[in-house]
Amino acid sequence: MADVDVIKSHLTSHPDFPKKGIVFLDVFPILRQPLIFETLITHLVQHITSHTIGISQKKKIDVIVGLDARGFLFGPIIALRLGAAFVPVRKAGKLPGKCISASYEKEYGMDSFEMQADAIKPGQTVVVIDDLLATGGSAKAAGELVAELGGKTLEYIFVIELLLLKGASKLDGPVYSVIQTE
Ligand code: 5GP
Repeated sequence: MADVDVIKSHLTSHPDFPKKGIVFLDVFPILRQPLIFETLITHLVQHITSHTIGISQKKKIDVIVGLDARGFLFGPIIALRLGAAFVPVRKAGKLPGKCISASYEKEYGMDSFEMQADAIKPGQTVVVIDDLLATGGSAKAAGELVAELGGKTLEYIFVIELLLLKGASKLDGPVYSVIQTE
């Protein structure tokens, strides 16, 4: 089986979670199997080193930005493998020190994300990572925070992309997803 098929076979889907009508795709079963988790991380690192870095004028990625909360599962490991910094984007009120914020639309009303104001330096190259792309609202807000600090988002990377919701069209850079589903 190809890498992507092996990873996909370890996702589980949960109808009516967290509420009726939503089918939730769970990435945690991947993390229960070290070899499958390793396959996923290696796949993402290989994509970045063979493709994403080519988009840049520079030779390396400076910063991996991970989204609260499941972007924190993958982002730091990928950052370590690339010799890059890891920077979290968190829900408002969770990060100490001076922060910048960006709001985004959720199913019911607005929410906001924050990033520490000294986390990215102007001109640094960034890859934004999360487990799943749905409407794209949260990844768009993360991209806005990176841009406000002068960083350049080279790519938005996800384990899963829900194609029907067209989230990629909201983002101001290329999107790569390991698994695409309707
Ligand atoms: P968006 O802002 O693109 O509409 O929603 C994406 C965010 O919601 C991500 O941070 C993701 O973790 C979470 N999310 C929404 N639906 C799912 C799902 O079915 N599975 C998982 N694992 N996360 C989801």
